[in-house]
Amino acid sequence: MNAAPKTLRHLSELNAAGLTSPDQRAALEQVAARYAVAITPAMAALIDSADPHDPIARQFVPDAAELVATPEETADPIGDHPHSPVPGIVHRYPDRVLLKLTHVCAVYCRFCFRREMVGPGAKALSSRELDAAFEYIAGHPEIWEVVLTGGDPLVLSPRRIKHVVSRLAAIPHVKIVRVHTRIPVVEPERITSELTRALKAKGKATYVVLHANHARELTDAAREACARLVDAGIPMLSQSVLLHGVNDNPQVLGELMRTFVECRIKPYYLHHGDLAPGTSHMRTSIERGQELMRALRGRVSGLCQPSYVLDIPGGHGKSPIGPNYLSRDAAGGTLVEDFNGGLHCYPPKP
Ligand SMILES: *Cc1c(COP(=O)(O)O)cnc(C)c1O
Ligand code: SF4
Repeated sequence: MNAAPKTLRHLSELNAAGLTSPDQRAALEQVAARYAVAITPAMAALIDSADPHDPIARQFVPDAAELVATPEETADPIGDHPHSPVPGIVHRYPDRVLLKLTHVCAVYCRFCFRREMVGPGAKALSSRELDAAFEYIAGHPEIWEVVLTGGDPLVLSPRRIKHVVSRLAAIPHVKIVRVHTRIPVVEPERITSELTRALKAKGKATYVVLHANHARELTDAAREACARLVDAGIPMLSQSVLLHGVNDNPQVLGELMRTFVECRIKPYYLHHGDLAPGTSHMRTSIERGQELMRALRGRVSGLCQPSYVLDIPGGHGKSPIGPNYLSRDAAGGTLVEDFNGGLHCYPPKP
């Protein structure tokens, strides 16, 4: 009998699995020395290694192009550091904070915006730091929502998650616990009834935001994991990153959004790629992103429309950057564009 498959972490394992070729070894050694590598069995099984453009491989298999950092790319592309009052907390917007519990993930995405921070060696918050983070949240009554992120918070055991959620639940002004994760897709077996129970707290609303970028990631096992969360009363939203060669195509993007909705996951954000080091080969232009959003509008259900957002470099927060459908006519009225590109007057308010 074969042993249960395990996460691929070393180049030798990637080579043995046919995901990389030995002639790339020297360059990929350099990539792997700089950025963490992990591909879970669920994701490795999805990769068609005969396809040089496989959209799953592109997200997880290291590429020599990662060695090319462009001048605008930075280690902290969305400017978390200046907004971090205590370790683990990022407080950029008045009513919500990020709480980064761990820097470990089940997979390491080649385009990760926190790639300089995440990895198997990166340390988690100590219990003293965690106490200080809860103290910070408790001391700021304007904090209505806490976003658990990382790394991937669902790599933690249900016991630890239960501890964190119940500490948050004890803070009266915190009403919403939001979890940003890739686990239901990349390691669906972790979504157990013990975990779904741990995520919930009486009197608070828990939301889970799933990160996935291609419809193929939503395997039967992933769909069942999401169904376990939703059936447990946890609403789900999606976030995807617009990635060249993965989903920068109207059919692929539309199918991804429809797949989310079929799984009872409401599309929330389509992120423009952040300026993380060595990721320029995976970014598109904002113009291309707007074209894709126009292609979605009207052609797929309104339920399938995410908001296209840019995290402004330097720590200024997210802004919607989707296409604009309004312009002015010569008489000062408003022109509205329909989904076929037709223009229509809307009269000024008398
Ligand atoms: C992205 C982000 C959030 C969440 O933003 P929403 O628009 O509410 O999804 C909160 N805090 C920080 C620091 C963020 O970067
Ligand atoms: S799961 Fe999220 S934090 Fe982890 S590597 Fe992927 S994008 Fe980065």
